[in-house]
Amino acid sequence: MSTYKGRFAPSPTGRLHRGSLAAALASWLDARAHGGVWVVRIEDIDPPRDVPGAAEDILRVLTRLGMTSDEPVRYQSRMDGLYEAALEKLRTAGRLYGCACSRTEIRECALALGLAPNVYPGTCRRGTNGRPVRMLRFLTDDQPVTFTDRWCGPFTQNVERECGDFVVKRADGLWAYQLAVVADDIDQGVTDIVRGADLLDNTPRQIMLTKALGGAPARYMHVPLVLNDRGEKLSKQQGAVPLTDDLMDELERAFTHLGFPRIGADTPEAFLKAAVPLWAERFRD
Ligand code: GLU
Repeated sequence: MSTYKGRFAPSPTGRLHRGSLAAALASWLDARAHGGVWVVRIEDIDPPRDVPGAAEDILRVLTRLGMTSDEPVRYQSRMDGLYEAALEKLRTAGRLYGCACSRTEIRECALALGLAPNVYPGTCRRGTNGRPVRMLRFLTDDQPVTFTDRWCGPFTQNVERECGDFVVKRADGLWAYQLAVVADDIDQGVTDIVRGADLLDNTPRQIMLTKALGGAPARYMHVPLVLNDRGEKLSKQQGAVPLTDDLMDELERAFTHLGFPRIGADTPEAFLKAAVPLWAERFRD
């Protein structure tokens, strides 16, 4: 019996677009090709960026395309207890600390140390010097994290040097994406993460955090982003082109974007049925 479990985890910051459809389709096909389970998780932990109705809209389109969650859809906005427990675990393991730095302080300090402006230089590692804590950070270590991405190949990053200790609870009191995504992937028993290549360089942080929380890192596959005419990534924030009403054409486009031929099916069901063996053939591992 397969122990494969995959997921599609959209943030409801806008409607499904061509890039997110390609990620959804790739993760669904990979799960089916492995005889596995596929779940949908709505990552609605950022109210200022979430768009009312977007989650329902994403789920409606997925349903019309024949891709429905094998388990009840999880909403991150309802998972506070899980994230609190994860923070506690990090605290107990000595991997959590409060940080008082403002963005400007971090940038100035990083520049003075010759680091990239977005690398946290570890200023508050030994305390805040009486300054009030604004956010909570995960204590990284100097060990390079290496993994083999099923699409992109080997990838290595020294998280401490290239990102620094990263935020797990934000200054505005919201959960950071890194903490929530890792806590849910562990809690839901996700074995395989298939998603857009924009998250490739987040993966070492997530692997390090997964291990610190006692979880087993998933396998990863980062699929190519859909670029617009100017070669820019399509993201919901940048007003990405939404899907047209011709959802069959959108499915075929997503599949050809992933390097496969057009199937020419009449219905989503027929399309998916034909696509699974083609995917399985290419991505056997
Ligand atoms: N929620 C993230 C997004 O929509 C994706 C998270 C993930 O797949 O790890 O961009």
